[in-house]
Amino acid sequence: MNVPFLELKPAYLELKEEFDAAYHRVMNSGWYLLGQELEAFEGEYATYCEAEHCIGVASGLDALVLGLRAFGIGPGDEVIVPSHTFVATWLAVSQVGAVPVPIEPDLQTYNIDANRIEAAISPQTRAIIPVHLYGQPADMDQIMQIADQHNLVVIEDAAQAQGALYKGRKTGSLGHAAAHSFYPGKNLGAFADGGAVTTTDSSIADRVRILRNYGSKIKYHYEEAGFNSRLDELQAAFLRVRLANLDEWNGRRQQVAAAYTDLLTGSPSITLPTVPTWANPVWHLYVIRVLNRDRMQSQLAEVGIGTQIHYPIPAHKTKAYPQFNAASQPITESISETCLSLPIGPHVDIDYVIELLKKKGDVLC
Ligand SMILES: *Cc1c(COP(=O)(O)O)cnc(C)c1O
Repeated sequence: MNVPFLELKPAYLELKEEFDAAYHRVMNSGWYLLGQELEAFEGEYATYCEAEHCIGVASGLDALVLGLRAFGIGPGDEVIVPSHTFVATWLAVSQVGAVPVPIEPDLQTYNIDANRIEAAISPQTRAIIPVHLYGQPADMDQIMQIADQHNLVVIEDAAQAQGALYKGRKTGSLGHAAAHSFYPGKNLGAFADGGAVTTTDSSIADRVRILRNYGSKIKYHYEEAGFNSRLDELQAAFLRVRLANLDEWNGRRQQVAAAYTDLLTGSPSITLPTVPTWANPVWHLYVIRVLNRDRMQSQLAEVGIGTQIHYPIPAHKTKAYPQFNAASQPITESISETCLSLPIGPHVDIDYVIELLKKKGDVLC
């Protein structure tokens, strides 16, 4: 591939001196877990998200699991989730012993269709997990209003949305808590797995802090059966470097997205992403829809452009969820069959991508 779908090394190379300095600082400190780098990152990221508290954990999936557990959600409970999302949103619900209740997306934004939520609420419903999919915020005001009326907890899945704004407010502090992922490919990516919970609720923050550390606040004094799920000092130090550059790098993603939109507007066979007036997305992914998706994907591969599909099999059709396999989620299924993610990121050379596309002028029309 001339332009692979995702390349991680350029991020390291651009800030190499700072990452290397962070590495040496941590290695020479002799302290590798639950130390001052984590504390500093947690403070900086909480401020960035306009949230009161941030608790670093081992992954985005764990952030969702610990968030659900902190609110006491477990066996016998139902949690409303988008049917169109990365499987981790569902897995978190399953891992705490609750049942995911899938809701179809809005075909314009690909996010959970808030108009469908109320019909799915039962006496067992305890929570909603809206996902800010592809970097675009879900319609949080409407979701929070429904949650207030029915006394439900809202945990944002902000794994793809670091820095995204909803009506001028930061994602990560719009619900009762939010889960973040620092998987290397995310907008704010570490160099290994990592995640965090943000919240303005100090009792929930306390509970997540206890849960991530075996269920103890004081060593060997266990308040409940917890987890080992910590964001280590090295990753926290790297993330501090990345966080300081996040807005600038999100800006570059925005420029790539604008260039694709310019190029593809008017193309009869392509549906472009839609941005509602109240959203400032951070373009974790740039997803188009095309009827003959597989053919376009191989044509793009022929000209040297790597693409991916987010996501080829909806959670309800996977072997992980046999009890849902017979269910029909037609909007989700049609998106899986037609969606295609073009290369996007702070180091994608969009001029070169366009040059490759124009060499074979009919690929994207
Ligand atoms: C990446 C992602 C997760 C899980 O994060 P990990 O750090 O990979 O565990 C959860 N939800 C969504 C929407 C994601 O994209």
